[in-house]
Amino acid sequence: MRTLITDGIVVTAADTVPADILVEDEVIVAVGRNLGPADRTIDAAGRYVFPGGVDEHTHFGLPVSGTVSQPWETESVAAALGGTTTVVDFAMQQRGGSLLAGIRAWQEKAAGASAVDYGFHITVTDLHPEAIREIPRVVEEGVVTLKCLMAYKGSVMVDDDTLFRALQEGHRHGALVMIHCENGDVVAALQGQLVAAGKTEPRYHAASRPPAVEAEATNRAIVLAELAGAPLLIVHVTSADALDHIRAAQGRGHPVYAETCPQYVTLTADDLARPDFAGARYVLSPALRSAAHHEALWSGLSSGSLQTAGSDHCAFTLEQKALGRDDFRRIPNGIPAAEERLPLLYSEGVASGRLSLNRFVDAVATAPARLMGLYPRKGTIAPGTDADLVIFNPEAEWIMGVATQHSGSDYSPWEGKPVRGAVETVLLRGEVIVEDGRYVGQLGQGQYIARRPFAG
Ligand code: MN
Ligand code: MN
Repeated sequence: MRTLITDGIVVTAADTVPADILVEDEVIVAVGRNLGPADRTIDAAGRYVFPGGVDEHTHFGLPVSGTVSQPWETESVAAALGGTTTVVDFAMQQRGGSLLAGIRAWQEKAAGASAVDYGFHITVTDLHPEAIREIPRVVEEGVVTLKCLMAYKGSVMVDDDTLFRALQEGHRHGALVMIHCENGDVVAALQGQLVAAGKTEPRYHAASRPPAVEAEATNRAIVLAELAGAPLLIVHVTSADALDHIRAAQGRGHPVYAETCPQYVTLTADDLARPDFAGARYVLSPALRSAAHHEALWSGLSSGSLQTAGSDHCAFTLEQKALGRDDFRRIPNGIPAAEERLPLLYSEGVASGRLSLNRFVDAVATAPARLMGLYPRKGTIAPGTDADLVIFNPEAEWIMGVATQHSGSDYSPWEGKPVRGAVETVLLRGEVIVEDGRYVGQLGQGQYIARRPFAG
């Protein structure tokens, strides 16, 4: 089967070139002109053609706060409709349990249920000797990223000893360590004080996790990585304070990589103060910040101090959010953002003049593909790579909201937001899975991708 995509403007992290793309079965075979004939032609005139988005940060079907986030069956379709063709989701080690068992459990959730290609990280909660012995096998199976959380005390938080050894052992075996940076002890103390004072509403979520809590942990993670001689990837950077530490470490020449997310450059702590418990819709961690932090993060994305923009997609319904009606600590943390990621970053980034088109493609596809050990198979448009492609209409104007989204969540954090640019057609390894903004694929088309260690 030969598919020809004609007359589009092909955009990669490096170039913007008017060209046709010839796809044979699952793979791109040529980019240029006069590539026909083909069995099927897709007209991309007036459209950009991007590499399929790579979202390195999703939580589909994650048990949290006594409930489970929305599952692969709906959320992977939402990701596809948002122009993402590969996700890397966080499998979880049960405390005291096996890393490989955690990966198996997530493989079962995703098997036959994903609209997009996928890989896994393993979240490390306990680095006991047997878990350390498992790391080479974990890496061999293509799980080349370990995740540690410095927050969520009493649940998944790890201490500095575990963090330091994870950095050492991960690096020894070619696994990149990803860290959620917040001082979990301070968060727990502040939460307890707020609740004791009767401050139980969603807006106190932000008061319990101020930017300094993130900045301290970011600096600590960086120092521990330097001591371990290991690279690290700091996930979901939200504040200018944390970014300062990242830039300083990068300036010292240490390989520190960092991610931000669309919510942290578009939503603010004011959203948490919405009346009638509507603030619960915006409870995620680290917490949303004031608008002053947005421009710092955009500047970090633009300069490349923040290489990547994942979604941290973790979707709940309003009923699930209501678990914390009387105590913000019990509100499940997270929002739907996988579908919104490309359109929001294009609209607020490229169309608003904050990001170049090429840097946008880098942040949503190429840089995450590199960091995740998926490049060049994923994350670019070149002969020999997977035909994961997004045909994007830069002129489309639409209003984002629950009516336009496909997550199992029943609200949109961006309800009523005007957006410029829309995903029209998506190909996953040569198959059209989104046509005219409608999902036309089949669950189970997404395949597990064994990743290769990030070379640095
Ligand atoms: Mn996190
Ligand atoms: Mn997360």
